[in-house]
Amino acid sequence: MSLLKQWRDKAYDESANKGDLQRLWADYFEKEKNIYAELLKTPDEEVKGTVRELADKYGIELMTMVGFLDGINDSLKTPNPIDDMEEDTVVSLGFDKELLFKNMVAAGADWLYGLPEWNDIFDEETQKRLYHEQKASGTVKKAKKIYPNDPCPCGSGKKYKKCHGKNGKNRFEE
Ligand SMILES: [Zn+2]
Repeated sequence: MSLLKQWRDKAYDESANKGDLQRLWADYFEKEKNIYAELLKTPDEEVKGTVRELADKYGIELMTMVGFLDGINDSLKTPNPIDDMEEDTVVSLGFDKELLFKNMVAAGADWLYGLPEWNDIFDEETQKRLYHEQKASGTVKKAKKIYPNDPCPCGSGKKYKKCHGKNGKNRFEE
């Protein structure tokens, strides 16, 4: 079975124990956020390596890296062959900055498009423009499942339902 299928079967398993899935996603979101924060510090540097090497580089499990590669693929300059990649497949994290920002908006992940590292890449006006362009395009990416009682992926330490899971305006809304 391919790595991607193994990851998706595990992460999107409707019949899995709810607590196990919650822990998996809480863990994933934290690591995902850290990797993006790292990547955004040097946005013009292409990070490349085998799936295993990148997992080691960021100190995460192989399957978490597979999930990350699944999530970032639509934002890359050249998508990776995620469907049949193996541990030793060379992959690239060379992302398109505008596309990545917009995809984070489309996924409703304000803890990602709100990362402070973006401020060194795009000024406030540009972030606003990209945000509104994405909202106006009507393209919605299926957000990953977060349960109300999960810790919020933004890292506030609050429950998701009390933090970013609350319906409210964010900083780009007038
Ligand atoms: Zn939050």
